[in-house]
Amino acid sequence: MARSARYSALALIKQALTGNKDWPRVWRDPEPRPAYDVIVVGGGGHGLATAYYLAREFGVTDVAVLEKSYIGSGNVGRNTTIVRSNYMLPGNEAFYELSLKLWEGLEQDLNYNAMVSQRGILNLCHSDPQRDAYARRGNAMRLHGADAELLDREGVRKLCPFLNYDDARFPITGGLLQRRGGTVRHDAVAWGYARGADSRGVDILQNCEANGFLMEGGRCVGVETARGEIRAKKVGVAVAGSSGRVMAKAGIRLPIESHVLQAFVSEGLKPVIPGVITFGAGHFYVSQSDKGGLVFGGDIDGYNSYAQRGNLPTVEDVCEGGMAILPMIGRARLLRSWGGIMDMSMDGSPIIDRTPVQGLYLNAGWCYGGFKATPASGYCFAHLLARDEPQETATAYRLDRFRSGRVIDEKGVGAQPNLH
Ligand SMILES: Cc1cc2nc3c(=O)[nH]c(=O)nc-3n(C[C@H](O)[C@H](O)[C@H](O)COP(=O)(O)OP(=O)(O)OC[C@H]3O[C@@H](n4cnc5c(N)ncnc54)[C@H](O)[C@@H]3O)c2cc1C
Repeated sequence: MARSARYSALALIKQALTGNKDWPRVWRDPEPRPAYDVIVVGGGGHGLATAYYLAREFGVTDVAVLEKSYIGSGNVGRNTTIVRSNYMLPGNEAFYELSLKLWEGLEQDLNYNAMVSQRGILNLCHSDPQRDAYARRGNAMRLHGADAELLDREGVRKLCPFLNYDDARFPITGGLLQRRGGTVRHDAVAWGYARGADSRGVDILQNCEANGFLMEGGRCVGVETARGEIRAKKVGVAVAGSSGRVMAKAGIRLPIESHVLQAFVSEGLKPVIPGVITFGAGHFYVSQSDKGGLVFGGDIDGYNSYAQRGNLPTVEDVCEGGMAILPMIGRARLLRSWGGIMDMSMDGSPIIDRTPVQGLYLNAGWCYGGFKATPASGYCFAHLLARDEPQETATAYRLDRFRSGRVIDEKGVGAQPNLH
């Protein structure tokens, strides 16, 4: 079994004095073996976290992660890095709070600097009814053990004096603050989980696309890959934006649409934004990276697509949202933008469940909120794969809930993925 060297201040000094020549590979590049106990399809944050927790928590180390490209090439390396647990509904809040707790101990757990930065997340409200709704959400969060503070207009002004308080159309009437929310360096999460899984014996197989499933007697017994057939007792699929396409190969049609979501980064600026701020009357959210860039985003592009790039009307819409609350953003120059493919479920909540095909398990439907879920998603999917029963915080994420009517419509907008 592979073992990676522990990172420590002592190791850093030793390497610095000896020319940084002896750092070990962070993870191996093994050849696929003919069979494993478990195959996880998708080397994004969720797939890698699943493999890590399978090995670390459940002692299942005979595991392969199949990634069609390189790890970190998907949404885990494309998101705007926001983590939080400010959910309201019972099916969601305990799960996202578990995730936030796992984030809080992640760097020590992985022995990897993922730059977990709990700078707070502030949701602005712009009317009295919206403030009431936030009060209700905050109370639900506190009932589940999460932290939440309702700020009035002056409380928001004290925290963020630079916002636009004079806009007649979108007056800032207050905000819901979760101080334990914040940001985490996204690609370091993929690398940290990959290193942790690899060091416990998991094979991470890059450039190894799953092209189909091996079926025997109606049961899934492995995967047809770009590097040959690989058999497994259980196969878990965690391919985010590609969920519809991959599950179609097993004959399963998902209640999921794929849409593009874009992200934007400005030139580096001096520290100006204390944490994450979200606009309550449109869709715009912003934080500042440690390098100084303003990192922001907004709505998904309205059409279905598998292209990792978006279009200009959405850019305009996002920038309008930014200008409404943060006029100074108009002075910053945009440095980069990109897109990722969102697996939008019909109620905006995820799926962590068995499928109608025996031996085949699904982790999908993360919409644009799946980064914050990475640790809990991996933990709960590993629990399901190892024990064949859902982890207690993920019992509501059933695939059949759309048929049974037990949807988890956190936003209360109904079964319209473009509204979630
Ligand atoms: C612009 C943007 C901003 C976002 N901002 C946030 C945010 O601030 N906070 C938040 O919580 N969430 C955010 N998200 C959502 C979050 O990034 C995703 O929900 C989450 O990363 C999805 O899980 P993942 O990391 O496993 O996905 P991915 O990293 O996409 O992993 C899936 C992997 O599966 C691989 N794959 C696909 N098909 C196959 C196949 N056939 N065989 C093998 N491998 C395959 C892909 O190459 C990919 O690497 C954002 C997303 C985007 C695009």
